[in-house]
Amino acid sequence: MTATDAFDCAAIGVETSNAESAHRFIPIGKIAPPVLKQRGQREVFCGLTGIIWLHRKIQDAFFLVVGSRTCAHLIQSAAGVMIFAEPRFATAIIDERDLAGLSDANDELDRVVTRLLERRPDIKLLFLVGSCPSEVIKLDLSRAASRLSWQFDNSVRVLNYSGSGIETTFTQGEDACLASLVPPLPASSAEAAPALMVVGSLADVVEDQFARTFAALGLGSVSFFPPRRSTALPTVGPNTRYILAQPFLADTARALEERGATRIAAPFPLGVEGTTAWIGAASACFGINRDKVLSVTKSARERAASAVSRLRLKLEGKRIFFFPDSQLEIPIARYLSRELGMELVEVGTPFLHRQHLEQELAMLPTETQLSEGQDVERQLDRCFAANPDIVVCGLGLANPLEAKGLTTKWSIELVFTPIQGYEQAADLAELFARPLLRRQLLAA
Ligand code: SF4
Repeated sequence: MTATDAFDCAAIGVETSNAESAHRFIPIGKIAPPVLKQRGQREVFCGLTGIIWLHRKIQDAFFLVVGSRTCAHLIQSAAGVMIFAEPRFATAIIDERDLAGLSDANDELDRVVTRLLERRPDIKLLFLVGSCPSEVIKLDLSRAASRLSWQFDNSVRVLNYSGSGIETTFTQGEDACLASLVPPLPASSAEAAPALMVVGSLADVVEDQFARTFAALGLGSVSFFPPRRSTALPTVGPNTRYILAQPFLADTARALEERGATRIAAPFPLGVEGTTAWIGAASACFGINRDKVLSVTKSARERAASAVSRLRLKLEGKRIFFFPDSQLEIPIARYLSRELGMELVEVGTPFLHRQHLEQELAMLPTETQLSEGQDVERQLDRCFAANPDIVVCGLGLANPLEAKGLTTKWSIELVFTPIQGYEQAADLAELFARPLLRRQLLAA
């Protein structure tokens, strides 16, 4: 394959998981299932939640939420484990005087940031994170970020994004954060050789596994975005071929494309076949053929397939219902249905990005009931009527559903836990097997 046609990714398919067709790539082209769209009351967390995993990922960044005491409580209770370390997030509280317009919120913010940066010279990247209250009082955090960057003579990069819960869901916090980090990425030179960028926060252990696999495939130039240190931002430009590792990054993808990058279409790296297809799609764009992909990944695939098959014994035939929350619902449903034999009762997602999920949708059973958005009362009625074996939902719905006798899995756990790649495929299945086992033991 020549350098030019190596980037034609259209031919890549997904590897099927069943025995007869194993190691064969099938073409994508099936019609996606129909979608039920409803709007009404929603039960989701806000984008501030993303700080919990992002502050672990970008190790020299600080997240300053500009919000209320409620925002501070949310962050503090979700990330209470930080008591043994210097925290890398905090909340600048907007109080009644700010809300009443009696004090200049910009002056207050400048004072808080100055005190913080004088005390913590290790901070190289500061995110001012907007919230519902900062949006209500129309505090312009982008102007504040430019003013503070200038004030600190660019020794600290100050950026801003919104984590507000108005009309958003919690994984959009990561999308907004990464989108704000795209403009400062250095431009790659016009003559630079094509390079792969993996986009979306992955646990370090997963990132290291993928980096080793790409190195074994001979893919030399691979970057991960976000990087672990803000001083190691990857370059971007028309030579960048990016592949999404998470399905909730619509704004980040748009921002990268505005910088000239091209997306590699692929399913997401969940489960054995999702991971193989994802690595295969990235490799195909760099002229690496599928035989090489299958040979390099052989032992990891076989180990993962054997671990997953043990979990299949526990999950096959179990009926699962997804409430919309994390935007991971569709790729996870695909994995649970195709590799674990689970039956999909309803797969709800807060937003359906058809382009980014095209290959995932084509891999779902055609009769799958998909739903986009939420009218929670009507969805609860459907859930009770269907009486599934397990329900994936946000924390707000889990306790009431458990009280009604349903078994639940918190969707936020799917974002906090390393689930991508071969080594994590069985762990992902285990997350669903465990609550079912607990319910069985309670019933015994
Ligand atoms: S929903 Fe709004 S007010 Fe509540 S914690 Fe999130 S940002 Fe703060």
